[in-house]
Amino acid sequence: MVQVHPVPAFDDNYLWVAHDGRRAAAVDPGDAAPVQAFLDGHGLVLEAILVTHHHGDHVGGVRALADRWGCEVFGPAAESIPGRTRAVAGGDRLAVPGLGLALEVIDVPGHTAGHVAYAADGLVFCGDTLFACGCGRLFEGTAAQMQASLARLAALPPATRVYCAHEYTLANERFALAVEPGNARLAERHARDRAAREAGRPTLPTTIGEELATNPFLRWDSPEVAASAAAHAGRALAGPVEVFAAVREWKNAFR
Ligand code: ZN
Ligand code: FE
Repeated sequence: MVQVHPVPAFDDNYLWVAHDGRRAAAVDPGDAAPVQAFLDGHGLVLEAILVTHHHGDHVGGVRALADRWGCEVFGPAAESIPGRTRAVAGGDRLAVPGLGLALEVIDVPGHTAGHVAYAADGLVFCGDTLFACGCGRLFEGTAAQMQASLARLAALPPATRVYCAHEYTLANERFALAVEPGNARLAERHARDRAAREAGRPTLPTTIGEELATNPFLRWDSPEVAASAAAHAGRALAGPVEVFAAVREWKNAFR
């Protein structure tokens, strides 16, 4: 039985560790020390590192952990990943050695050009692509690429647990409420997540079903989101990519 735990790092990153009580895989270890402390504290052996994309807050601890453990380092083939031992791309299936965790790689370009996600039965590690009530910035990709990537993640079963790499939820929800003030489920979610943060708990993981109901970056088919995005952009918008792109531009300037 694999469990997944957040290891907080930097200001708002979660370095996720999946383990069965003995063996572990670390996702996007931007800093080695807190991951090592978690492994030590739980008596775990690190078998693999899964990297979603090349940004420093996701790869900064890879070399130190890989040197210490001699473990596999899975990372996207299309990016330069320090210490990578196995280059992966969309459609690849991989197993973490010794851990009952079968993963499928999904290509999700947009935040970076080669960004990948790792999906297993009932969960997905999506890096900086899909956030709780938000999505990553478009640093290397186009809005069309990101919308297609998000659509791929949105097609996972609704109960799929989504392990995002940052705790951006409350700020994302404030923006989402500006886009879609009539979404009652979003208002409920915001109240619940505020209570979680006040109690010092993560708002993650979220689920695909929750995101489909409340995340404006997946709700290009919602009439309210489309109308709101068009009103803000000051022009007519046709289709999911234009609606998504307008919401993304709006968020970039939202305070
Ligand atoms: Zn990033
Ligand atoms: Fe990041």
